[in-house]
Amino acid sequence: MKSEHLAAFENVRGQIGCCGIWCGSCPVGNGSLRKLTAKYEEVLHSHGLEHWAPEDLDYGEFVRALGVVKRVASCAGCRKGGGRDNCELRSCCESKAVRDCLECAERSRCEHGQVLEHMRSGARAAGLLVKDVSGSSNEQLTREWEAAVRSSWPSSVLFMEEA
Ligand code: SF4
Ligand code: SF4
Repeated sequence: MKSEHLAAFENVRGQIGCCGIWCGSCPVGNGSLRKLTAKYEEVLHSHGLEHWAPEDLDYGEFVRALGVVKRVASCAGCRKGGGRDNCELRSCCESKAVRDCLECAERSRCEHGQVLEHMRSGARAAGLLVKDVSGSSNEQLTREWEAAVRSSWPSSVLFMEEA
């Protein structure tokens, strides 16, 4: 049976957002944020941090906060109701019936151009994968990207104990 973290990845692996961001590479959507937090907590417990932590660490509060992060709901992905609330890029793609902004004939004069570039460059800066080429096969692209995230930090943590 798949872990809840891998189930989160399965949910977003096929989703390339309307702006071109691959949800499968986002730690909040693909489950790696929660898994990293859980593994980090395991290490702290197994090494008895509570017995030797600096006095100015409120250990109980620290553990409570880790628990909160572990329970952060996974984003459902751009195509399944996740992502930005009321995203103008997604609405615009839907209204123009284009798969994504890369395939939009009006991109060069897009009224949302600043938001679009802000989201794409911000995602890249955070290590997410972003589609660059129009007309490419999304299935092929996500297969190649999956191979990349399996061996790159932080999403690689999802696949470390895969049976
Ligand atoms: S910025 Fe908008 S279009 Fe891009 S992934 Fe997020 S919700 Fe989707
Ligand atoms: S006009 Fe801009 S936001 Fe709308 S689909 Fe085209 S590129 Fe995307």
